[in-house]
Amino acid sequence: MSLREELTLYCHKVYEKEYVSAYDGNLSARIDNKRILITPSGKCKGEIKEDDLLEIDYDGNLLEGKGKVSTEVKIHLLVYKLRKDIHSVIHCHPPYSTAFAALGEGLNRPVFPEVILSLGKVPLCKYGTPSTDELPNSMLPYVDFSWAFLLENHGAVTIGKNVKGAYFRMEKLEHAAKTLFIARLLGREKTIPLQKLKELYSLAEEVYGIKIDDRNKMDY
Ligand SMILES: [Zn+2]
Repeated sequence: MSLREELTLYCHKVYEKEYVSAYDGNLSARIDNKRILITPSGKCKGEIKEDDLLEIDYDGNLLEGKGKVSTEVKIHLLVYKLRKDIHSVIHCHPPYSTAFAALGEGLNRPVFPEVILSLGKVPLCKYGTPSTDELPNSMLPYVDFSWAFLLENHGAVTIGKNVKGAYFRMEKLEHAAKTLFIARLLGREKTIPLQKLKELYSLAEEVYGIKIDDRNKMDY
């Protein structure tokens, strides 16, 4: 599958899953060290075709394609510049995750073991006015080590070594936020005891070979 086909497929997926509405969100993938493939502004992700995708440089200038570059491109450029291991960035407004972002709450407490291992701590990035540098700057304190970000009063960003990886983190984030929301309807979630959390982290390294950055470990 070409990168264009893959990015188009996941554009359709985020719309089907209702992680975006109308023209919301943007998805991108690194082509090489000069070019990034990204969705154009003002197009519904559910209707995106391969030819609609734009090629831009690392300053956000349009190199190829007919559409307009989104003002949210700065989020993508920041990640690609600072994280050489990352090849895809997805920004959506998934309702449950965005509800936590609207509450001003990151997902940083140890509740679900799988989420702890796959997403790590999901920080709340301080509210920034869309299209300004405030938005990427709000991600700066976390971009070196995080895989998923909540943007205060706005939405969510996930990143990955490929498009599928970034997409699955978005799916996992929204599922965790939805489950937490339901838990709070029933009462209040319990966190995993500190000793058990330490066990999980050592198991992750020994058994799964997952090296978790200390800065990405859950708050206790
Ligand atoms: Zn947005």
